[in-house]
Amino acid sequence: MSTTVLHGNGVVPGIGVGPVVRPMPRPELPQHEESLDAETGAERFSAAAALVADRLAARAEHASGAAADVLRATSSLARDRGLVELVRTRLTEGSGICASTAGAIEELSAMFAAAGGLMAERITDLEDIRDRVIAELTGQPEPGIPMPAVASVLCAGDLAPADTAGLDPAAIVAIATSLGGATSHTTIIARQLGIPCVVGTDGLDDVADGTAVLVDGSTGEVILDPDPDLARERQDAAAVAREAAATWRGPGATADGHAVEILANVQDGAGARKAAETHVQGVGLFRTELGFLERDVEPTVEEQAAVYREVFAAMGERKVVIRTLDAGSDKPVSFATIKDEPNPALGVRGMRLGLRDEGLMDRQLDAMALAAEESPGPVWVMAPMVAAEDEAEWFGAKVRKRGLTPGVMIEVPSAALHADRILRHVDFVSIGTNDLSQYAFAADRMAPSLARLTDPWQPALLELIQRVAQAGHDAGKPVGVCGEAAADPQLGCVLVGLGVTSLSAAATAAPLVGATLSGVTLRACQAAAQAALRAKGPAEAREGAAEHLG
Ligand code: PEP
Ligand code: MG
Repeated sequence: MSTTVLHGNGVVPGIGVGPVVRPMPRPELPQHEESLDAETGAERFSAAAALVADRLAARAEHASGAAADVLRATSSLARDRGLVELVRTRLTEGSGICASTAGAIEELSAMFAAAGGLMAERITDLEDIRDRVIAELTGQPEPGIPMPAVASVLCAGDLAPADTAGLDPAAIVAIATSLGGATSHTTIIARQLGIPCVVGTDGLDDVADGTAVLVDGSTGEVILDPDPDLARERQDAAAVAREAAATWRGPGATADGHAVEILANVQDGAGARKAAETHVQGVGLFRTELGFLERDVEPTVEEQAAVYREVFAAMGERKVVIRTLDAGSDKPVSFATIKDEPNPALGVRGMRLGLRDEGLMDRQLDAMALAAEESPGPVWVMAPMVAAEDEAEWFGAKVRKRGLTPGVMIEVPSAALHADRILRHVDFVSIGTNDLSQYAFAADRMAPSLARLTDPWQPALLELIQRVAQAGHDAGKPVGVCGEAAADPQLGCVLVGLGVTSLSAAATAAPLVGATLSGVTLRACQAAAQAALRAKGPAEAREGAAEHLG
C-alpha cells in the first residue's frame, strides 16, 4: 500500500502521531431572531461574554508566557464595555441579539483594521469572541479546539490565537496547518509549548477527521496512515533529539570545536528567568518594545531601567543583547508609533522613530546605561531597522558615549549590502531574518499565502546572510542571527556554515540547536551551506543540506 505524504514547512521539530482532530466549526447564526428590549438584550450579551471571558481566563491560568498573555488579552477584550455599547445600539435599532453581536464585532473589527499593525492582528481574537458568545447564546457547542480523549493531531487552516494559546501538549501531540509561515502566530505559540508543528501543508484540508497521521516537525512531512514501524523509527529519533537537547550543556560549538554562541530571545524578566534555566550563553535579542505595547505614555527612564535590570539580573554574568524600541508596523506602541501611515511596514518604524524623535532614543539609551551599571554581565545594545551607514554611525556614537557596546540589526537588504561599511561604526551585527526576508522578497511576513517566499531556507536570503557574515569575518566582528531562522536546528548548522558566529532563538528551541550543532563538523556545515545556496528553492535547500548534516 502506498503511503500518502503531504509536505509543509516544519517549524517546531519533533514527532506527533494520532488521529486528526479539527477545531469545532463556527456556530450557525439563527435564521430568525425575536427582538429583545435593549436592556434585557445587553444584559444577556454581557452575561454570555463574561462566561466566555472567564473560560479564557481559566485557560490562561494553565498556560504561561506568550500563550497566557494572548488568552488574558482576549479575555479582557471580551469584557470590553465599548463592545456592550455597540451591541446595545443595534438592539435598540431592533436587531436580534446574535445579529447585534455579529454586527458589533464587525464594526469593531473595521476600527481595528483601520488602526493597522498589531490592532489589525487582533481581529482574529474579536472573531473568536463573537463565535464563542453566539455559541453560548444559542446553546451550540463552543467553537475552537476540542479536548480529545486520546492524544491527537490538531489540523486546521490556521489557528485562532486564543486556540493555540490554550493547547494542552498532552492532548494535542502535534499541529499541522494548511496556512501559516515560520513567523506566524501558530508557529510562535507551538514553539513556546514545544508541540511539533508543520505549517503551510499542501492538501491538508482534504484529510478526513479521525485519519491517523504522523507529523514530522523537522522534515515538514505529514504522513497519512503511517506504517507503525516508520512511526516508531521516527519517534525514536525524535526521542534521541529531545534527550540530546535536555542533556546539552553548552557552550555552543561544532563537533570539531568551532565555537558558536547559543543565545535566547526574550521579552521580559520572566522570559529571561526561564532562559537562564537552560544552558544558553546569554540573551541574543531582548525585544524591549514587547513590554510596552499596552502603554499610552512613554515609561520614564527609571521605569524602563527597572524592566531592563530584571533581565540583566536574571542572566547573571551571561551577556545580554538588548534592542532599542522596534515599534511600528506589526508592533505598534502607542506612545511612539506614527498613526495612519499608508504602509507601516515601509514607514517610520524601528530606529527611524529615534531618528525622528531623538529624545525617545536618548531616554531609552539612558535607561539601558542606568540598568547596565548594576549588570553582572556584559550589555550590548543594538538598533532595529537600520538601513544605511550614516544611521549606524549616529547610533554607534550614542551607545559608545554611554560606555556600552553598540551593534545594529541587519533586517533591510540595503544594510546587508553595506554590512562592511556599517561595521566600521559598530562592534557587532545581528541578522533579523524575519524582516530581512520580508524586505528582500517583497512579501509581508504576516501573510500566510506568501509563506513560501518568507521561508528562511530561501537561497537568496542565505546569500544575503553569507555576504553579511563575510563582512563580519573581514572586520573581525561577530555576526549573529536572531530571527526565527536560528530556531531551526538544521538551518542553524547552515548559518554556521555561512560564517555566522552566534544563533539566538526561543529558549525552548535553543538547546536542540546547540545539541544538533555539537553533532556535526564545521566542514559539514559549510558543505550544507553550499548545497543550500545552490538550491532552486527552500525544499531543495533543505534536502541538499540534509545530505551533509544527516
Ligand atoms: C527579525 O526581524 O528577524 C527580528 C528578530 O525582529 P522582529 O521579529 O522582532 O521584527
Ligand atoms: Mg525585525
